[in-house]
Amino acid sequence: MPLTLQTFSTIADAGAALKASGTRYLGGGTLAVRAANEGDLSFSTLVRATDPALSAIAVEGARATIGAGVTMAAVAAHPGLAVIARAARAVGGPAVRNQATVGGNLFAASPYGDFTVALLALDATVHAGGGAIPVEEFLAGRDGFTGIVTAVSFAMPRDGGFRFLKVSRVKPKGVSVLSIAAVVEEDGDGRVTAARIGLGCMADRPIRAKAAEKALVGNRLTADGIAAALAVAGEGTVPPTDAVASAWYRAEVLPVHLKRLLLAR
Ligand SMILES: Cc1cc2nc3c(=O)[nH]c(=O)nc-3n(C[C@H](O)[C@H](O)[C@H](O)COP(=O)(O)OP(=O)(O)OC[C@H]3O[C@@H](n4cnc5c(N)ncnc54)[C@H](O)[C@@H]3O)c2cc1C
Repeated sequence: MPLTLQTFSTIADAGAALKASGTRYLGGGTLAVRAANEGDLSFSTLVRATDPALSAIAVEGARATIGAGVTMAAVAAHPGLAVIARAARAVGGPAVRNQATVGGNLFAASPYGDFTVALLALDATVHAGGGAIPVEEFLAGRDGFTGIVTAVSFAMPRDGGFRFLKVSRVKPKGVSVLSIAAVVEEDGDGRVTAARIGLGCMADRPIRAKAAEKALVGNRLTADGIAAALAVAGEGTVPPTDAVASAWYRAEVLPVHLKRLLLAR
C-alpha cells in the first residue's frame, strides 16, 4: 500500500488533517516509519508539522518547556537541561537520538519510553490542543488520544535532585530491562519530604511507584531508611515479558536497582 506524507506549517492545519481516517502523526518517525515498513496497515498517511514551536526549548527561571518535536540529541546538548540530560542520552544510539522526539517518546510502548519515565518523576505537564494535563493522566489515557502533543513542561529539579538509571543488557545503547527516574526532596535533617519515582518496563507504559514514594517520606536515604520503600517497590507493577527480560526477572531486580539509585550520592 502506498504511504503518503503530508507536511503542514502550522499545528492547527496538521491537526485538521489528522481528523481523516488512516492518518497518523509523524514525529521523528523511529517507531511510526518502522511500523509502516513492517506492514502496519492501520494508517496510509503520515502527517507532520514544521511549526517552529514544536522544536523550541525554553528554560526560564525554574521552569523548562520542551517542544514535542525536540529530539533527544537536542535535549542532551542543551546547557539548561544538563540536569536531565542523562535521561535523553539513555534513548537508543546516536542515530536514533537524532530523530527520536520527546513527543514520540510519550507514545512508545514498553520496552521503550525511557525519557517519559523521567517526565513522570519530574511531574511534567503535557500540552496539547491548547490544554495541559499531568503526564501521569496523559499516559493513562494516551490510547484514545488523537491530537498533537505540542510540548511538555516541568519545574527544573535542583542540581543533583534528579536521579535516573537505565538497565540494559547491551551497553551503551541496548533496550531497557527497566529504567527508573526519581526526584527526592529532603529537609535540612536529611529526611525525605516528598518523592516521585517513575518506572519504565514495569507495565505496558511508564508508571509511578506510588507505594515506594509514600514509604520514603519521613525517612532518610540510608539502607535502613529506604528498606520499607524497597519492600513495596513492585506494588501496582505488571512487568512485561519480552525478548529482553521476563516479567519475573524485572520484578526481582527492580528493588536492587532502586536501592542503587536511592543510595547514590
Ligand atoms: C533502534 C531503536 C532503538 C530505540 N531505543 C530506544 C530506547 O533506548 N529508549 C526509548 O525510550 N525508545 C527507544 N526507541 C523508540 C523510539 O526511538 C523513541 O521512543 C522515540 O522517542 C519515539 O519518538 P519518534 O519521534 O521517533 O516517534 P514517531 O515514530 O514519530 O511516533 C511514534 C508514535 O507517537 C506519535 N506521536 C509522535 N509525536 C507526536 C506528537 N507530537 N503528538 C501526537 N502524537 C505523536 C506518532 O503518531 C506515533 O504513533 C528506539 C527505536 C529504535 C528504532
